[in-house]
Amino acid sequence: MKTIGLIGGMSWESTVTYYRYINEAVRNQVGGLASADLILNSLDFSQVVALQKADRWEEAGILLGSAGAGLARAGADCVLICTNTMHLVADKVARMSGVPLIDIIDETAAALLADDRKRPLLLATRYTMEHGFYHDRMSALGIDVFVPDAADRLAVHEVIFNELCQGIIREESRAFMHQIIAKSAANGADSVILGCTEIQLLIDANELALPGYDSTAIHADAAVRFALFEGTRRAVTSSAAGGRQD
Ligand code: GLU
Repeated sequence: MKTIGLIGGMSWESTVTYYRYINEAVRNQVGGLASADLILNSLDFSQVVALQKADRWEEAGILLGSAGAGLARAGADCVLICTNTMHLVADKVARMSGVPLIDIIDETAAALLADDRKRPLLLATRYTMEHGFYHDRMSALGIDVFVPDAADRLAVHEVIFNELCQGIIREESRAFMHQIIAKSAANGADSVILGCTEIQLLIDANELALPGYDSTAIHADAAVRFALFEGTRRAVTSSAAGGRQD
C-alpha cells in the first residue's frame, strides 16, 4: 500500500471526515484490520484564513507547498490538499511537493463526467465560486459550472466560515442550502457539487433535489485508489487547464 499525505486542518472539521472516509474505504477494499498508511500535516487554519483575506495567495502557496514537501520527505507517495479553496495554489504545491498531487477538482470532474453531468451547481466558498480557477479547470473538461447569485454566494460563504468550520450545524442553514439547490434545479442545473469539504457536514449528497457530488468523499476515494491500485486512477488530469496561481 502507498502512503497518503494529507495537507489538512482547513478546517480540521473536514479533515476528520477525510481520515474516517479514507480508513473506511481501505477497510472495505482490503477487509479485516487493514487501515490506511497516511501522514497528516494539520495546519493552523487561522493562518491560512488570514492569507486568504489579505489576498496573499503566493505566501499561502508556499505555506502549503512546504507542508507538501515535508510530507514527501516523511515518506508520502502522494499529497492531497484537503480543501477545494486552496486548490487555487495547487500547481505550486504539486511542484514543491515533488510527488503526485491528487487534485480535488479533477477527481470531482471525473465523477461528474462518469454520470454525464455537464451543468452542475457549485456550492463553495466565495474564493472557489468567484476566483475562476475552479470554473476554468472544469470548463477545460467540458463541464459548465453554475454558481448561485451574489447574495446567495455570500450567505453560503458565511455558513462555511462562521458555522461549519467552527463545528456549528444549524437547521436554518441546511434549509437554506436546500432552497438554493431547488432554485438552481429550476434554472437548469443537472447536479450539485458540494465544493467545500465541510458542506457534507450539513447536507447529505444522496438526499438532494439534484444528484449530489461530495468533493470530500470523491477526493478521499481517489486517494485510496492511488494507495491501493496506483496507476488505475481515472485519467482526466492531463488536459485540464489553468487559472491558478503559479
Ligand atoms: N474546506 C473549505 C473548502 O473546501 C473551505 C476552507 C478553506 O478556505 O480552505 O474550500
